[in-house]
Amino acid sequence: MTQGLFSLTGRVALVTGGNGGIGKALALGLKGAGATVVITGRDRAKNRGVEAEFGGADSIIRLDVRDESAVSCAVASVVERFGRLDVLMNNAGNFRAASLLDMSLDDWNVVVDTHLTGSFLCAKYAARAMVQGGEGGKIVNIGSMYSLYGPPGFVNYAAAKTGILGLTRAMAVELGVHGIQVNAILPGWYETDITQGVPATERGERVRRKTPAGRWGEPGDLVGAAVFLAGSASDFVTGVALPVDGGYAIAD
Ligand code: NDP
Repeated sequence: MTQGLFSLTGRVALVTGGNGGIGKALALGLKGAGATVVITGRDRAKNRGVEAEFGGADSIIRLDVRDESAVSCAVASVVERFGRLDVLMNNAGNFRAASLLDMSLDDWNVVVDTHLTGSFLCAKYAARAMVQGGEGGKIVNIGSMYSLYGPPGFVNYAAAKTGILGLTRAMAVELGVHGIQVNAILPGWYETDITQGVPATERGERVRRKTPAGRWGEPGDLVGAAVFLAGSASDFVTGVALPVDGGYAIAD
């Protein structure tokens, strides 16, 4: 009965921001579970840096997730090449900290557009392909513990990541009839480019002390949740947000 629940053999997955810390781990995790994986990233040098791990440049699409026609073309090219799209991981993201009083409209737009509008656009075109394919699908949105908290200096990021929860629920309800499940993963603190330098600071140490697991996350810690939400083990799970944070969000 458990056989195949966590196998992604025969599935095709698209992971946005797959040249970055968390996205690369998610993509390699799906690949390890048997999926054919295509990743996206904007930075040519970073894309080249991960080429070998994804079987060559053909598995990497240069894409800005805020660009609707580019997103539409990216999804179409995956379907054209592999005949289907089963899994979308909306992972691409960025970060610009500033207090509300000093935050520019550009700081706001670049963060909200990348996380929220980008996830909406990728989901829209991926869901169309999944509906057309007629075999259901899985959309996994990467939120954050800041989908739950409102920390100072992060109004753009917290608003975007909280929006991911509403996007997840509304899409889950709308797409359920097509056999598409939509869920979110809420990572805690992970050492990647976005958090570069923080672990070595007093703040980084506070994070470690507050986290019941007693450490920062490593991108590989997210793979189990990703494979679960991408595979048939989660066929009756939709609209949920799963923290993968070593207990950070429930600790005092
Ligand atoms: P990285 O900076 O390592 O990766 C970010 C990725 O997003 C890169 O691949 C980057 O590619 C891509 N990206 C950024 N902007 C765009 C864009 N406009 N269009 C397409 N791709 C884009 O950070 P992480 O791996 O840590 O972050 C991945 C996700 O995890 C993000 O959504 C982040 O908010 C979330 N997260 C991270 C946490 C952490 O502690 N690290 C905690 C909670 C959530 P390129 O550089 O080529 O544009």
